[in-house]
Amino acid sequence: MFETLSDRLTTVFSSLRSKGKLSEDDINATAREIRVALLEADVALPVVKDFIAQIKERARGAEVSRALNPAQQVVQIVNEELINVLGGETRHVRFAKTPPSVIMLAGLQGSGKTTLAGKLARWLKSEGHAPLLVAADLQRPNAVQQLQVLGERAGTAVYAPEPGNGVGDPVEVSRQSIEHAKRAQHDVVIIDTAGRLGIDEEMMRQAADIRDAVRPDEILFVVDAMIGQDAVTTAQAFMDGVGFDGVVLTKLDGDARGGAALSVRHITGRPIMFASTGEKLEDFGVFHPDRMAGRILD
Ligand code: GDP
Repeated sequence: MFETLSDRLTTVFSSLRSKGKLSEDDINATAREIRVALLEADVALPVVKDFIAQIKERARGAEVSRALNPAQQVVQIVNEELINVLGGETRHVRFAKTPPSVIMLAGLQGSGKTTLAGKLARWLKSEGHAPLLVAADLQRPNAVQQLQVLGERAGTAVYAPEPGNGVGDPVEVSRQSIEHAKRAQHDVVIIDTAGRLGIDEEMMRQAADIRDAVRPDEILFVVDAMIGQDAVTTAQAFMDGVGFDGVVLTKLDGDARGGAALSVRHITGRPIMFASTGEKLEDFGVFHPDRMAGRILD
């Protein structure tokens, strides 16, 4: 996903390699080139501006070092600022003191939400939890069946509406699922909610109603990293409409330019918690800002 950005940064750094000490002009020229590389990678403008301001300030303030030459110092600064913009530390799931913990997924249709529900269930199971998947996406025709298939693959139970049992009402299904989880001793409930192709008031209201009914411990906003700048607009709309605690980036295996991944934390103030890198259940993991920065600078 970050191939072009990686290549561009490598070129910027290699042009510094012969320098003994960085002049103000060198710093400005380098900052300009990094700025262009980030904008070309589709990183949101406010993020780029802050990023560049930090790089300049730190490059100017960098002490002459015996261990690192100027080029290495710039690489180090860029690396640290990339980690910063990606959120610094890994943020782990907060579990409720009294089970079940409730994790609610929100995002646009096609963002990879249902797939993510299955991945999360599989992962939680491997961590020793007993998750329950809840099919509260009653909008998309195949979502319930898709979740049942994923549940089977992940080896986890799925709670889905049955005829006469709150059918058609995702708020009621979500509420009942919590009671079911208590009875069946599931310690984590993962609620897959409905998305639309675009931002839609009714979808937001439904997600907010589910949120109010089940009071989740974590609301995760699921966003397709391939949609570029739209990821930022979408994140803001979900922030305003539902609110969320963390972000899951999906389709990081794609060949988009990766700017969404670099913008969403800074714009929303919410940490990226997980990353999805493919269609299979195992293509998933906890998000580590330092590893991602390392990959970009590799
Ligand atoms: P939902 O509408 O948000 O529930 O989205 P789905 O979970 O149905 O996913 C939409 C499509 O994206 C499906 O074809 C998934 O297989 C695919 N998908 C989901 N996550 C990823 C991912 O990380 N990488 C890739 N390449 N495809 C993904």
